[in-house]
Amino acid sequence: MKGSKMKSEIADNLQKINASLEGSNARLIAVSKTKPIAALLEAYEAGQRAFGENKVQELVDKHEALPKDIEWHMIGHLQRNKVKYIAPFIHLIHGVDTEKLLIEINKQGEKNERIIPCLLQVHIAREETKFGFSPEEIHKWLDTQPLDHLPHVSIQGLMGMATHTKDEGQIATEFSDLAHLRNELKQRYQHERFSMTELSMGMSGDYPLAVANGSTMIRVGSTIFGVRHYPNQP
Ligand SMILES: *Cc1c(COP(=O)(O)O)cnc(C)c1O
Repeated sequence: MKGSKMKSEIADNLQKINASLEGSNARLIAVSKTKPIAALLEAYEAGQRAFGENKVQELVDKHEALPKDIEWHMIGHLQRNKVKYIAPFIHLIHGVDTEKLLIEINKQGEKNERIIPCLLQVHIAREETKFGFSPEEIHKWLDTQPLDHLPHVSIQGLMGMATHTKDEGQIATEFSDLAHLRNELKQRYQHERFSMTELSMGMSGDYPLAVANGSTMIRVGSTIFGVRHYPNQP
């Protein structure tokens, strides 16, 4: 009975979140990191097809074990030497935070004869620890017409994480800043592989604010699958 109860909970949670997205431009990426295959399958059976993971090995293992019509999203910090493992099949890399990483993704895209879709991660939070470009860095970089030299990547938009705070005004400001930056960049640089249509923002704690500010992809984990347990933490 425990199994069947959990099953309906995951399906229920997905349904509630999807209902809350109706009328918006946002869709749900189910963040399944640390969760077992069985939990992902329950979500799959409930109709979920987009999953996000933040560790390359775990993503590769789950890709092998699960149905092939799943879209896999790499949402975590990606090391250059690991791009090759996901390059053949990854649907979208959310956290591109350096030009060097993009050059490696381009190289692996060429090897796999595909164009790999990416989002640029932008540092929007006031916290110091988060990865990402500053808006100024992206502006400067676009002056170099970078995609002319990167034929195997496309940049579909931006990704950001808001400050972890209870101050909803601050979170909303950070999300709307990211939305404005997306619009500004889209105007400024026209390239067939620079669509700037996507805004990956919003997690379990703040996705309603992200959706209200124009998110097109929310990355939600614990609200679907329950809290995560990490082996090295009590
Ligand atoms: C873990 C993670 C999420 C999902 O977090 P929840 O709070 O469980 O919804 C979203 N984005 C990134 C980048 C993550 O690492």
